[in-house]
Amino acid sequence: MAEIKLRAIGLREVNFSEHDRYLTALTEDGRKIEILCKQARSKKNRAYAARLFCWSEFILRERSGKYTLREVSLLHSFFALTEDIEKYALACYLADLTNALSVEEEENTALCRLLLGALYRLETGEREPCLIKAAFEWRSMSESGYAPALTRCGLCGRSLNQTPIYFSVYAGQAADAKCAERLGGWDKLENATLYALAHTLTKEPDKIYSFSLTGLAQKQFCSLAEQYVQYHLERTFDTLQFYHTVITPNIQ
Ligand SMILES: [Zn+2]
Repeated sequence: MAEIKLRAIGLREVNFSEHDRYLTALTEDGRKIEILCKQARSKKNRAYAARLFCWSEFILRERSGKYTLREVSLLHSFFALTEDIEKYALACYLADLTNALSVEEEENTALCRLLLGALYRLETGEREPCLIKAAFEWRSMSESGYAPALTRCGLCGRSLNQTPIYFSVYAGQAADAKCAERLGGWDKLENATLYALAHTLTKEPDKIYSFSLTGLAQKQFCSLAEQYVQYHLERTFDTLQFYHTVITPNIQ
């Protein structure tokens, strides 16, 4: 049985039998793994760092792609997020979305950096939660095979170098005014929305949250991001519905 050392963040916990727990975690290189944490629920539990929202260093035993916890040490806990219901609800949704986008034994390095960056900014309060949410949604989708096409008109193929630019959540593409207005049903992007989108999709994963957006453009950026996730993944999330029940009115 091989022994491996890796860093990962807990995305989901499922209790198993009377004493054990399974932790679904995202590794530093963006793979999803399931770790059996034996005796994790007993009073003598020493696996306190193998938990949801804990970024930890694990020593695992591996056999045929199955992992069992041997040792774990905490690098950073985002547990403080649980003290604020809005931040906690959003963190749960981000973990759920990450779980849906990540694949076992398939690397997606940006995904881990995106999630850690989002949780860190949520914790420090240096960005509005709705902007962190939307930036994470756009970029995590983009890094997972659902990148929106913004450089050329999705209808005629010409380069998009003149505003206004339109966008279709369903097509996952942008279009010029002439084509979009002829066809109908496309959203005309605010200039600030377009810049925020370009920033979010092209900057280093750690830097995508460094922008501000207000008013109509913020509303558009956030609303399109959420629609984009749900349409392309063909599902919604219970944690997203919960987030909507706890957010402060008028923020989004
Ligand atoms: Zn066109």
